[in-house]
Amino acid sequence: MDKGEARPLTQRAEKVYDLIIVGGGPAGMTAAVYAARKKLDALLLSKDVGGQVNWTLGIENYMGYQFIEGPELIRKFEEQVKQFPLEVKTGSAVISLSKNDGGFDAKTESGESYWGKAAIVATGKRPRQLNVPGEEKLKGRGVTYCAICDGPLFSGMKVAIIGGGNSALEAADDMVKMAEHIYLVSVTQLTGDAVLIDRVKAASNLTMFLEYEVLEITGDKLVGGIKIRDLKSKQEKVMEVSGVFVEIGLIPNSDLVKGVATLNRLGEIEVNCNNETSIPGLFAAGDVTSVPEKQIVVAAGEGAKAALRAHRYLQRLS
Ligand SMILES: Cc1cc2nc3c(=O)[nH]c(=O)nc-3n(C[C@H](O)[C@H](O)[C@H](O)COP(=O)(O)OP(=O)(O)OC[C@H]3O[C@@H](n4cnc5c(N)ncnc54)[C@H](O)[C@@H]3O)c2cc1C
Repeated sequence: MDKGEARPLTQRAEKVYDLIIVGGGPAGMTAAVYAARKKLDALLLSKDVGGQVNWTLGIENYMGYQFIEGPELIRKFEEQVKQFPLEVKTGSAVISLSKNDGGFDAKTESGESYWGKAAIVATGKRPRQLNVPGEEKLKGRGVTYCAICDGPLFSGMKVAIIGGGNSALEAADDMVKMAEHIYLVSVTQLTGDAVLIDRVKAASNLTMFLEYEVLEITGDKLVGGIKIRDLKSKQEKVMEVSGVFVEIGLIPNSDLVKGVATLNRLGEIEVNCNNETSIPGLFAAGDVTSVPEKQIVVAAGEGAKAALRAHRYLQRLS
């Protein structure tokens, strides 16, 4: 049966949930705790536990902790979720969330189907790719999207960092202490914070290639080099590197509701201040939404709000 097609109740997924929450980052986990405290029969579906917080070495701005490592904060979130009788299924992405029978059908990449009277999308963001030859083949073989997580693996080596914003500059600032040499390649001039730009410019083991584009990442089994081109002179350069850190921003994981809910020009799910999307019963929270300021505390707060609103919506249904 086609996605989104109405079907008789008898063919619906076996169990009827009050609420399906998609995403196991700060927004989704907080929504789950709030849903459980309202005694909703909720299901949390997520690819992984923790989302972007797993990639964060040190957090100094989540209230209650002066400093905490990302994975440690996630362990604490997880312990809190486990205190409640919630159903949690991880390891498989939800590929579509469509309106059906007055509720929502969630279909996973592993072929399962779940149905809920209401749903919250809290699927966060993922790193943007360069889309150049060699990138796909060498992913995890020297091409990485998280310098903060993988940087130490490249100690004493030559690396390239791609990007000119805060993520790339933070990566460069971190890597100057570890790498033999860093090539910072950006299609624009640097756009990050002035303090970071000054620090990175002062590093003796870093060379900048501003207004250069990446043409190719070379290597057979592992990254061996990078080919770049000056956008003005069109001159090409090849550098030997063992690692390429792609730090060119994040894109929202909103594909599962494409054509269902309204997205903005960045692909974020449009929500109002009650976390309502354009579809009644479908809520969204955290980095995947149009809400500005992508931070853990913001995502957690938005997750709480979304669950409380979903609860009100369900009360009105019954
Ligand atoms: C390197 C780095 C450092 C950061 N440092 C800080 C910091 O110091 N302080 C701070 O406040 N913020 C920081 N942030 C931002 C912060 O991590 C995010 O704002 C926050 O994690 C957003 O939470 P979220 O739950 O909305 O999304 P995410 O954390 O992105 O979680 C999304 C979840 O959804 C799951 N998912 C995605 N797609 C699907 C799908 N189709 N089906 C099922 N599950 C899916 C993912 O597996 C994940 O579990 C940092 C971010 C990065 C990248």
